Amino acid sequence: MKCPSCERENQPSSKFCVQCGRPLKRKKASSKNALNNIYKILEKIFVSVVKLLSLVVSNWTVRSSFSEKKDREKRHPDTQGVGNVRY
Ligand SMILES: [Zn+2]
Repeated sequence: MKCPSCERENQPSSKFCVQCGRPLKRKKASSKNALNNIYKILEKIFVSVVKLLSLVVSNWTVRSSFSEKKDREKRHPDTQGVGNVRY
């Protein structure tokens, strides 16, 4: 196989280039495994993000509806007094 840096032809079984000593990459298994690992990690991240988002959204909707009610009750007497401010 060819060395990626100096392009010297090496034995297919050799792990390092005979000329520059660079480690020779084997594309067969390692890259596939790395890709699989990345996909697995991405899947895990995606799942956890989705879980977190659904949790946050459900919390947020409950909170916002609650605070909206509270705000209206609070603001009601003020808006009557000022008159100019509309919500
Ligand atoms: Zn080389």
